[in-house]
Amino acid sequence: MTTFDTDLLVVGAGAAGLVTALTARGRRVSILHAGGTASELAQGGIAAAVGDDDTPQLHAADTRAAGHRCNDDRAVHFACGHALDAIKWLEALGVIFARTHDGRWSVHLEAAHSRARVLHADGDATGAAIMRVLRERLAEAPHVELLPSMRARALLQDTSGIQGVTAVSSAGSPVMVRARDVVLATGGLGGLYSRTTNPLEACGDGLAIALAAGARCDSLAAVQFHPTALDVDTRPLPLISEALRGAGARLIDAAGKYIMHGVHPLGDLAPRDVVASVVYAEQLAGRRVWLDATGLQATDVAHSFPTAYRHCREHGIDPDREPIGVTCAAHYHMGGISVDLDGRTSLPRLWAVGEVACTGLHGRNRLASNSLLEAVTFGRRLGQVLGDARGGPPEVGKLDPLAIHDERIDDELHQLMWRCLGPLRTAASLTEGIATLTTWRARLSRRTDSQAPHLQLVESMLRAAMQDIARLVRSRRIAS
Ligand SMILES: Cc1cc2nc3c(=O)[nH]c(=O)nc-3n(C[C@H](O)[C@H](O)[C@H](O)COP(=O)(O)OP(=O)(O)OC[C@H]3O[C@@H](n4cnc5c(N)ncnc54)[C@H](O)[C@@H]3O)c2cc1C
Repeated sequence: MTTFDTDLLVVGAGAAGLVTALTARGRRVSILHAGGTASELAQGGIAAAVGDDDTPQLHAADTRAAGHRCNDDRAVHFACGHALDAIKWLEALGVIFARTHDGRWSVHLEAAHSRARVLHADGDATGAAIMRVLRERLAEAPHVELLPSMRARALLQDTSGIQGVTAVSSAGSPVMVRARDVVLATGGLGGLYSRTTNPLEACGDGLAIALAAGARCDSLAAVQFHPTALDVDTRPLPLISEALRGAGARLIDAAGKYIMHGVHPLGDLAPRDVVASVVYAEQLAGRRVWLDATGLQATDVAHSFPTAYRHCREHGIDPDREPIGVTCAAHYHMGGISVDLDGRTSLPRLWAVGEVACTGLHGRNRLASNSLLEAVTFGRRLGQVLGDARGGPPEVGKLDPLAIHDERIDDELHQLMWRCLGPLRTAASLTEGIATLTTWRARLSRRTDSQAPHLQLVESMLRAAMQDIARLVRSRRIAS
């Protein structure tokens, strides 16, 4: 097996991994990555209380309300309180956020925000604009190197903690990367679902290998479903940004009836979980749902939302003239590897940041445009913590490489995720999911394969969802 030593290994080259790597000056950083990122796809933008009528406290209050007040207050306070700094830092790196003619930041309204506070760069291609600049700065940073594309498959452990990863190169060869510290920044797990907006690389790898190594994880069942993915037959599904509803587009049924009527005071801009549950209920009843952007005043979709417009046109839809068929899709994982504000996990020398981590910022439901903010604010903090820590070559003891599993994530698993851990979960569907997984694991012949990390992750998610249902039933009993 090819072996390679480094000081600080960052696994994942999305916004969270790149910000951490750039900030950790004073260390020798190697970045290992598998390809596509969700950061690149982010359309809506990044949230920050920069308007005259806004404050970090209002942003924090909206974040808690959307998260059903299950958020970690310190994480909320930290992210909302450092949002302005994050925007200024990104601008200093070279990101150009849109401004009004009088030089103020131009801010947009999105679901469940009480103020317009979402900043855009390059129209609705904010994630791509941020990633382009981060990559440019990374190319100039002498302390960082980007390794060729490969996929981390397991963590290396000795008695003192995590010591690196085993990975598989794009040619299929095993590689061992030993490091003094390891940061997991591998993104979310939407790619495990049959209907998802996530890149297919976002299939929970980092979470699965951390769980297999014994890291504490939190809120595993907390998946956010986006109500307006384009209803077409692709994986991933193109996203039709919430910003269109912010600009006045409305969700309707086939008869043109407004489906959010009387459901929530914020109507189409209700929190994402509320809108997704209404859209999904329509779909379960066999009715299609449409997003009507034909009546947008003072704006046209092509100019203001070029990415959404391009997706529609690629599928033969003209959003200025006809409603857009939409569907719910797995979009964001609020749960993840438990970390403190510094990104420290429960395992020595293992750190986590971005969507793979659970800081508690989002509670049970993420407020739109808070995840790029989380990647930047927590990435900067983790980079500073690691940059100030002692670096050097890895001090490796007797290594216990967890086996690399030859597992396939196939369509059967994607379907199971949607059926059992989709927008509607019942005790019956979760029991069915656990029974199916038990059968699959029993069928696998080799002992190591039966411990395959993704199957363990999915089973843990099913059991966590079962506990969520039991808690809900108990609290309803107490309330009545
Ligand atoms: C379509 C879409 C639109 C969105 N819009 C917004 C928005 O407008 N605003 C907002 O705040 N958020 C938005 N989000 C969410 C946001 O983009 C993500 O939560 C955030 O970018 C996650 O950043 P990350 O760095 O943690 O992960 P990612 O950007 O997904 O990066 C993960 C990295 O890890 C790598 N990786 C994964 N597995 C492995 C492995 N086994 N080995 C090596 N590398 C691996 C990947 O290749 C990638 O480089 C959107 C998400 C999607 C999918």
